[in-house]
Amino acid sequence: MRPRVIPFLLAWVLALVAPLPAASPMAAQTPANGDVVHVIASFSILGDLVRQVGGDAVRVTTLIGPGTDAHTYDPAPADLVLLSEADVVFENGLGFEPWLDGFYESAQPPGARVVVTEGITPRAAGEDHDTGDGGAAPDEGDERGQFDPHIWHDVANAVVIVSNIRDALVAADPAHTSEFAANAAAAITRLEALDASIREQVATLPEERRKLVTSHDTFGYFADAYGFEVLGTALGSLSSEAGDPSARDIALLIEEIETAGVPAIFAENVGNVDLMASIAAEAGVTLAPTLYTDALGPEGSPGATYEAMMQSNVSTIVTALGASS
Ligand SMILES: [Zn+2]
Repeated sequence: MRPRVIPFLLAWVLALVAPLPAASPMAAQTPANGDVVHVIASFSILGDLVRQVGGDAVRVTTLIGPGTDAHTYDPAPADLVLLSEADVVFENGLGFEPWLDGFYESAQPPGARVVVTEGITPRAAGEDHDTGDGGAAPDEGDERGQFDPHIWHDVANAVVIVSNIRDALVAADPAHTSEFAANAAAAITRLEALDASIREQVATLPEERRKLVTSHDTFGYFADAYGFEVLGTALGSLSSEAGDPSARDIALLIEEIETAGVPAIFAENVGNVDLMASIAAEAGVTLAPTLYTDALGPEGSPGATYEAMMQSNVSTIVTALGASS
C-alpha cells in the first residue's frame, strides 16, 4: 500500500512551503480588471479540455502531466501550494485522485472544487467483466473500487465534462461568460465529429474482432460506447495501483487470449509495457503500439491532446485487431 498524505503533515508542509503571499487573497476572489482566473486541472486529459474551454481568459496548470499515472500520484509540496492558491480546481472524481480529499480536509483552500464527472452515470466497478481493487475493500466514503473513473474514453462523456467546465468557469469569472460559452460550443462540435469518426472506424472492424486485452481496466466506457468487449486485463483492476499479477493470473489471461484468438493485445502509456510485452510473446500475439489511456502523450506525440489521443487509440485498435492472426 502506498503512503498516504497525512492531513497533519500536509498542513505542516503548507505552512513551511507557503510563507508565500499571505497576501494571496486576490487568488481567491473573482478576478477583475484584467486579472486572469488561475485554474488547476488534476491530470493532463482534463487539462486539455479545460484549456479548450478557458482559452486565453484563464491560466491553466495541470498537476499530473503527460505520461504520468494519476492512480499512483503523490502530490509534491509545490503542488499543494498551487492548489491552495487556485480560483478553481477541476478534478475527475470517482476515486481517480484519492489524494485530493486529504488535501481539502487539511488545507481547506478557498477556490471552488469542481468534479467534472458530475451528471455522468458512472459504471460500477466489476460491471460486465472481471474487475476489482486488488481485493481491498474501499474505505467508507472512498469511491475507489466502487466506480470506474475512466469516463473520458467515451466521447459523449467528454461533452458533459466540457459543459461542466464551462459552467464552473462562468461562475468563477462571469465577465468572460460569452467567451467560455463560445469556446465550449466549438469544443462540443469537435467532440461530436470525433465521436462520429470513432464509430466510422470501428464499423470497419468485424464485430467478433472487437475484443480488448489491456494492462489495467481502463476501457470499460470505451467498450460500452463503441461496442467492444474487454476480454481481460493483466492487473485485473480498475487502478494501476494493483500489485503485479500472479503467475496463475497471467497463465489464465494467456489462455483467454489464445481461446479468443485475438491477434493483438495492448499496452498503455502509463506503464506496464514490459509486462504486456511478455504476455504477448508468451501468447504468440502482437503487442500493438502503446495506447494513451489515463494520460496524454508528450507534446509532439500522436496523443498530445484529447482528440488526438482518442483518434490515435481507435486507429491503433482497429488496425491491430483487424490484422490476420
Ligand atoms: Zn486507470
